[in-house]
Amino acid sequence: MTTPILAAVLEKPGAPLQIRELLLDDPEDNEVLIRTERVGLCHSDLHYLKGSLDISLPVVLGHEVAGIVERVGSAVTRIKTGERVVATVTPSCGACRNCISGRPTQCERVDSMRERQRPRLLSPDGSSVESLGGIGAFAEAFLVKEASVAVVGSDLPPQVACLLGCCISTGVGAVIHGAKVGPEDTVAVIGCGGVGIAAIQGARLAGARRIIAIDAVPAKLELARNFGATDTVVSSSDPTETLIQVRSLLPQGVSHAIEAVGRSQTAELAFSLLRPNGTATILGLMPTGSELRIPADALVYGDRHLQGAYMGANRFLSDVDMFTDHYLNNRLDLDAMVTKELPFERINEGFEAMAEASTIRVVLNMTDRQL
Ligand SMILES: [Zn+2]
Ligand SMILES: [Zn+2]
Repeated sequence: MTTPILAAVLEKPGAPLQIRELLLDDPEDNEVLIRTERVGLCHSDLHYLKGSLDISLPVVLGHEVAGIVERVGSAVTRIKTGERVVATVTPSCGACRNCISGRPTQCERVDSMRERQRPRLLSPDGSSVESLGGIGAFAEAFLVKEASVAVVGSDLPPQVACLLGCCISTGVGAVIHGAKVGPEDTVAVIGCGGVGIAAIQGARLAGARRIIAIDAVPAKLELARNFGATDTVVSSSDPTETLIQVRSLLPQGVSHAIEAVGRSQTAELAFSLLRPNGTATILGLMPTGSELRIPADALVYGDRHLQGAYMGANRFLSDVDMFTDHYLNNRLDLDAMVTKELPFERINEGFEAMAEASTIRVVLNMTDRQL
């Protein structure tokens, strides 16, 4: 038995998403079927939409999601029907070397964790449709592995709960788990979209003594101050100009630079901002084939570090509990990060709104629809 659902399908990069009926399979033993409440629009979705990251087509994108568990597979033990959950694109087995050493986003079994026996989604003609990251949340309902979901309390509203699945996990996670920022640190965050604002909030939570927000759009920098930025720099198309401005604030450079844009130029800029012994942490997903050029002298003589933090090197289950407490105690502002809510059928308009200066996160309301 399958469940008919409406889903936004990407047929071809560059073309608008098409909302159409698909058939959602039944949960396998270790899966849960989730009725979608809210989904955030993420820049990685936009990469696939534009074709700058490769993905098998046709596909249902959407991964920053909160919803209610409707059905559970026979082997599911941790999740119950009726619970509100959030999902991550990085399921983890909890038993491999990377998982037990605290790096579940690098789980050695991530591919087998996502495998299933039958296609998750079918078109009415019987052809299969892919789903991003084993989620595919631009749909009325989706199937996901138990290992990909965390339960959130009912005191966390769905329009902010969804943010925990990607931009908060990535931005706050990178600062706390990836960069391990503390009160002695000075932090520059390049890019003030959802992930960048989350990183700024992470640096504030971690007690960083200076937090420099960097973005090309002045309006975004004004927003960044509301989330904890102590200083702001309008970035120039010439990275040397941006470097000069940061050095005018901190002549030695910063101890941590966080790149939340996803371009090689901004990743190289992040490295250039570092003081000796500083660390640049790169979060943004870059177009397939991107490469970085780093001056070897600055790296070696200055004991500088360059690292990735895919999905913020988050520890999803415990992080979701931590983020929830910080939100409920007014130390993590999720409400103000949702700058626009739209009904599902306006999803393409939502992606256009991502380019607006006032946008931090666009969230789709999947339960208030006229379709
Ligand atoms: Zn994302
Ligand atoms: Zn593992």
